[in-house]
Amino acid sequence: MRTKSTELSPHSRKVFDLLSKSEKPLSAYEILDKLRRHGIKAPPTVYRALESLTERGMVHRIESLNAFVACHDEDEEDHNHNHAAQFAVCRGCGSVTEIHDHRLSDMIRELSNKLKFHIEREMLELLGLCQQCEHKAA
Ligand SMILES: [Zn+2]
Ligand SMILES: [Zn+2]
Repeated sequence: MRTKSTELSPHSRKVFDLLSKSEKPLSAYEILDKLRRHGIKAPPTVYRALESLTERGMVHRIESLNAFVACHDEDEEDHNHNHAAQFAVCRGCGSVTEIHDHRLSDMIRELSNKLKFHIEREMLELLGLCQQCEHKAA
């Protein structure tokens, strides 16, 4: 079954719009802060919206930052599953780039077989500096 974004609750829609426009990942509290004047006042509302968006694969959680980003996978229209993605996280400006490299996913699947380890969630985050920040540091 295909989950359409129109089926999102109004709160989830607001959270998603905010994340789509944000250049940086946002924590649940930053989201709450920015949406307060739009009628979202309780943390559980934000958590529920984030959970529903994450399940749909529209939003990803960046574990190392404890923050969320909107999915920027434009090729993939079918956003009804939580697809595996890798992220390059810049410790300078806080930007996050979503990477989809099927070779990495294939390799992880291979490893999973070899280790006889059932992977439930795949998180791969590369921490470093983006080109702009690297130039600034030099
Ligand atoms: Zn994605
Ligand atoms: Zn940077």
